[in-house]
Amino acid sequence: DIETGNKDRYIHITTRPSVEQIPNIVGASYKGMIEVMRGCGRGCRFCSPNLRTARFYHIGKIIEEVEVNIRNCQETAWLHSEDIFNYMVEDKKNFYPNEDKVIELFEEVLKKVRYANPTHGTVAGALAAPRILKRVAELNHAGFNKWVGIQVGFETASPDLIKKIANNKMKPFNANEWPWVLLNGTYVFNKFFWFPAYTTIVGLPGSSEEDEIDTARLIITMEKKLKEKLGEKAHFTVTPLAFIPMGALKYEEFFNVAEELTPGRILHVYHAWRHLAWEIHHGLRRIIKINPSYIIFSPLANFGAELIVDRIKKWAVRKGVDVEKPLQPMDLKIEDY
Ligand code: SF4
Repeated sequence: DIETGNKDRYIHITTRPSVEQIPNIVGASYKGMIEVMRGCGRGCRFCSPNLRTARFYHIGKIIEEVEVNIRNCQETAWLHSEDIFNYMVEDKKNFYPNEDKVIELFEEVLKKVRYANPTHGTVAGALAAPRILKRVAELNHAGFNKWVGIQVGFETASPDLIKKIANNKMKPFNANEWPWVLLNGTYVFNKFFWFPAYTTIVGLPGSSEEDEIDTARLIITMEKKLKEKLGEKAHFTVTPLAFIPMGALKYEEFFNVAEELTPGRILHVYHAWRHLAWEIHHGLRRIIKINPSYIIFSPLANFGAELIVDRIKKWAVRKGVDVEKPLQPMDLKIEDY
C-alpha cells in the first residue's frame, strides 16, 4: 500500500513491545552492536527515535546478547542507545544520569569482551557525570591510541533555538549554558580519551543568520580552547546534516540546499568540514601507527576531505562569501574537572 500510494503519509502506531517481548538476537550482529535501551525521553522535536517510549534492557538480557556475539567470534560490543547517559535514568525531570547503573553496565559487559563503547549519548549527560567517562576509559584501557568513540548531537550553538527545538537536551544544565556545555562537555570527553563525533543541523526551522554564524564560531572556539588546554588530546568532529522533517517537526518543509544556503549556513558548513578534514589528517595519522592496513585508505580519505573543503570554498566564492575572513571566537571558559 505504501508503494502504490494508498496509505497516508503518516502511519500512527499506538502499540509497542515491552522489553520482555523484544526477542534476543540469534546470530552475530554488526560490530557486536546490541541494544541496551529503546526510545530516549529527552523529547527533541526533530527526532524520530524520540517517538518511542524509553525502555531499558536489564543487564541479564544484555549479557545474553553479548554471549551470542562471543559464540560467533565477535569480541567487542557496541552498546546501542539513543543516550547512554540516560540508561536506567531515574531523574526524569533533570536527566541527571544514574551513574552507578551506567558504570555497572560497562563493568558487566567488559567482563566478557575486550572493548565496549556506546553508539550515542548527550554532551550534557557526559558533562554531568565525568565519573562515567573516567571509569569506562579505565575499563577499556583507553589512551592516545585507543579512544572511546561516541556520536553526539550538537545541533546548533544557539541557546534560544535549542530551547525551542530540544529543551531537555542540555539538562541537567540550562539552555542559556548550551555553548558552554558543548565546550566543557568536549573537554571532559577528551580528558578521558572519549572521541565525540558531533552532528549539527543546517536549516533548522526558526534558525537565524546569527544562529548559523554562532555555530561556526563555536566550532572555532572549541578548536582553539581545547588545543590550548589539552594539546594533542583535543579531538572532535562536527558533521553538518541538512534538516529533514521528522518527529514533532514532520509538517515542516525539507531544507532546500540549492535555495536556502545563506551566508551564515555556508560558514557553518565550511567550518564543520574544515575541522573534519583536519581531524581526518591528524586522527588517521595516529591510527596508521597502530594499524598498517589504513596506509592505503589514508591518502584517499585525506584527498576526499580536502576536495570537499575546496569545493565548499569555491561554492562560497560564487555566493559572495569569504570563508577565510576570521570569525570572532566565543567568550567561553573551560572549567576544571
Ligand atoms: S537526545 Fe538524541 S535521541 Fe534523545 S530525543 Fe534528543 S535527538 Fe532524539
